Amino acid sequence: MKKSAIALVVYCLLMPVIGLAQKTARPGIEQLQSPQNPRLGFMIHGGAGVIKRGSLTPEREKAYREKLEEAVLAGYEELKAGKTSLDAIQRAIIIMEDSPLFNAGKGAVFTADGKNELDASVMDGKTQNAGAVAGLHRVKNPIILARAVMEKSPHVMMIGDGAEKFAREMKIKLVPEKYFYTERRWNSLQRIIKREKGKKVGSVSSLRELPENKFGTVGAVALDKEGNIAAGTSTGGMTYKKYGRVGDVPVIGAGTYAKNATCAVSATGWGEYFIRLGVAKEISSLMEHRGFTVQKATDQVIKKQLQDLGGDGGVIAIDKYGNMGISFNSEGMYRAYIDKTGKPVVEIYGSEEPVAASK
Ligand code: ASP
Repeated sequence: MKKSAIALVVYCLLMPVIGLAQKTARPGIEQLQSPQNPRLGFMIHGGAGVIKRGSLTPEREKAYREKLEEAVLAGYEELKAGKTSLDAIQRAIIIMEDSPLFNAGKGAVFTADGKNELDASVMDGKTQNAGAVAGLHRVKNPIILARAVMEKSPHVMMIGDGAEKFAREMKIKLVPEKYFYTERRWNSLQRIIKREKGKKVGSVSSLRELPENKFGTVGAVALDKEGNIAAGTSTGGMTYKKYGRVGDVPVIGAGTYAKNATCAVSATGWGEYFIRLGVAKEISSLMEHRGFTVQKATDQVIKKQLQDLGGDGGVIAIDKYGNMGISFNSEGMYRAYIDKTGKPVVEIYGSEEPVAASK
């Protein structure tokens, strides 16, 4: 038999085996999405930190899971109704800002001198416009003000009294400072003050050792039906932070970033490290210049670069096809997303079987 005839026979014999192998090769989430197959995408976080299994009472764990589920579903509803990715993240973040469970809005932590100082930012991946606010004492929902800075001012960042003056002009809701008081956060501050008595106030090393610093910032990333992505983040910062300290959250490129060509990112963790690394922009750059997938880029920055520098925390990210990346080097991260079938998935601990939400 000629060589070519032998090759043909071998090929025909192997055909069914090759076909079967192709059918059973299971592509990962990332490969399922493509320019031909875009979809809506929505993911939120409620902060990363030392969240050990068993450290939350069953009631508290239930409360977190329910609030995360409510927020992720509310944001997703906006997307399904044809609203923009910015509308979706704003909706979900307001729900978490209004809950005392998270370190943002109502549940914000206290500074070393017993105040609440709130920061937030938002970025639009389509236009790469961004808005950020820092050091707020009286704005009920800082994420709304961040968006107003982006859309209704020529600036990117506004702080303190000036930002609150702008809020008044924009008719954005202000509340008395005592609105942000919660017993739980106040008690955390008192415990730290007691422990830190005599030590150098607000030093970075002391902030790190504080078990109260479970972070708890909130954030969201979204992909809308027009294929535009956006990211937003809101926080009270870190307990016992020195008055006037600003973390990564309102720093565009550190705690928040969005660019349609790459990804939208929202971070949580020890802000000083996120600023030094430019975490969110670094993730985008790895995708843009090195061709990393969104998951690979988030892991590279969090599990390698952040880890090597000694920081901790995590990120959520999404690209324009709906591929999602989640990475954290802390013990846990409150997080939720809408899976490929449109169902909410809520997770808290480092490794856990995805807990399908109840609805
Ligand atoms: N990144 C925030 C900050 O440093 C804290 C957090 O994520 O909870 O202000």
